[in-house]
Amino acid sequence: LFVSLEGGDGAGKSTQARLLRDWLVAAGREVVLTREPGGTSLGQVLRDAVLHGDHIDARTEALLYATDRAHHVASLVRPALARGAVVITDRYLDSSVAYQGSGRDLGADEVESLSLWATDGLLPALTVLLDLDPVVGQSRLTGAPDRLERAGDEFHRRTRAAFLARAEADPGRWLVLDATMPADELAAAIRTRVEKLVA
Ligand code: C5P
Repeated sequence: LFVSLEGGDGAGKSTQARLLRDWLVAAGREVVLTREPGGTSLGQVLRDAVLHGDHIDARTEALLYATDRAHHVASLVRPALARGAVVITDRYLDSSVAYQGSGRDLGADEVESLSLWATDGLLPALTVLLDLDPVVGQSRLTGAPDRLERAGDEFHRRTRAAFLARAEADPGRWLVLDATMPADELAAAIRTRVEKLVA
């Protein structure tokens, strides 16, 4: 089972990813909890380049994310799925479609094609969108903002709208939750949906 968590910065994706992992492990499942960008050691190098590099234009940015994703899927995600593990990833290709496709204006369809090429078409069975007003999300962040967190309100509004539009277009894959809900309620809603998939 392949599950991705999506949403803006500060929406609580990593908290929910951990809570879901803990619950599945307690139920006796093997779980691989990972993230993009940076789920592999090459991915760490690419993450640093894309988040902190100088003069990264939109196409370079899209290709760095696609490279990270290709390597992540081929070296970690597919092997884990093949041995029957549950893979939970904090961000996946929908982040690229939303951030680079809509946020950066490269075009959602083109960025989706690039991602599907990079992953040889691997899509999650479930994608959880933790939907949050980006102004609230930014206010939840701690530490120095990275290059993308500084991208501006309009960028983050376009990204949020893109996530919501993708979720609406494919309700079978997506679960949309209001990220202002308490963490335990969010976790329960995610478990209800995952339970049906692992049954
Ligand atoms: O979620 P995480 O903190 O790992 O994401 C790192 C940064 O990269 C965030 O600022 C996020 O908005 C951005 N990002 C992006 N495009 C992606 C994935 C992440 O702009 N495809």
